[in-house]
Amino acid sequence: MKKHNFSAGPCILPHSVFKEASQAVLDFNNSGLSILEISHRSKDFVSVIEEARALVLELLGLKNKGYQALFLHGGASTQFLSVAYNLLEKKAAYLNTGTWSSKAIKEANLFGEIVEVASSKDKHFSYIPKNYSVDNSSDYFHCTSNNTIYGTQMKEFPSVEIPMVCDMSSDIFSRQLDFSNFDLIYAGAQKNMGPAGTTLVVVKKAILGKVSREIPSLLDYQIQIEKESMFNTPAVYAVYVSLLNLRWLHSLGGIKEIEEVNEKKAQLLYSEIDINPLFKGFAAKEDRSMMNATFNLKDNNLESVFNQMCQEANINGIHGHRSVGGYRASMYNALPLSSVEVLVEVMNELERKA
Ligand SMILES: *Cc1c(COP(=O)(O)O)cnc(C)c1O
Repeated sequence: MKKHNFSAGPCILPHSVFKEASQAVLDFNNSGLSILEISHRSKDFVSVIEEARALVLELLGLKNKGYQALFLHGGASTQFLSVAYNLLEKKAAYLNTGTWSSKAIKEANLFGEIVEVASSKDKHFSYIPKNYSVDNSSDYFHCTSNNTIYGTQMKEFPSVEIPMVCDMSSDIFSRQLDFSNFDLIYAGAQKNMGPAGTTLVVVKKAILGKVSREIPSLLDYQIQIEKESMFNTPAVYAVYVSLLNLRWLHSLGGIKEIEEVNEKKAQLLYSEIDINPLFKGFAAKEDRSMMNATFNLKDNNLESVFNQMCQEANINGIHGHRSVGGYRASMYNALPLSSVEVLVEVMNELERKA
């Protein structure tokens, strides 16, 4: 029986995507070949990656606006250093909202001066700092739109006169934003776009080519653009499954439609967290993430009962990140509302029992 999968990543994808993806392993496009054994330069695959890149720009509303979508290797973690390699000449401004931001800062530090404009470390990253200022003489500003581990999400972004770079690994394609406010967006595929193994980078070409250092080819966005994500062998299968998921989202009506569903799911779970006397939320209310809800049991003695009930209800993946503890329910695009209803029902039942 299919489980209710609240895993933070790699994450749930639509059943139709799993089905089509598995079919392509056996026979891709009735070619008599598996997707796993074809050349990345074959016509069939080139059209996959071209469609995927075009669909990314269309879904984000960035078509014909000077952006390029790339499917690269190395996860979002490699982008922590690629961003600095390509954009950091002297000084960059970073907003520190959690583990992933901190890691991005650590890598960028190898390339220049990093100014932390604000940090929420003082309260265990349970909120998003506000009212900070960004020095417009920095080479760029970097932020993390959604903090997967802590369950906080930026609802507003500062307006800056320098390039704005954003790690959107865990909330890309989940909500409407004016994506043209960003100059570089990156995301590991495995949170909300596809399976593990490829990383999306959407970059405005005009910000590139301004640093004096030499950039290794594989990390050089300009070379990747020129080679259309084929400088070396791309992650063929991960790109294909991402395309299937992007097609699914497109056929639903795009980000606008899925955002409504995501809001419903988040609202249902958060109102239970607030109403149920056995639970308390971790993140500051105004900064709560629509993708990852973090919460705790007030009485740790109930943990084993609750875990057991979740297991019996076929719920998977709601344990909190090891650095935060408690629970984290990730509600990515493909998670149906009915799965959240099951979780809420279990929380209810615990209250009745306790
Ligand atoms: C998971 C995650 C990362 C790291 O992604 P990898 O692809 O594993 O390198 C970076 N940033 C955020 C916001 C994440 O959720």
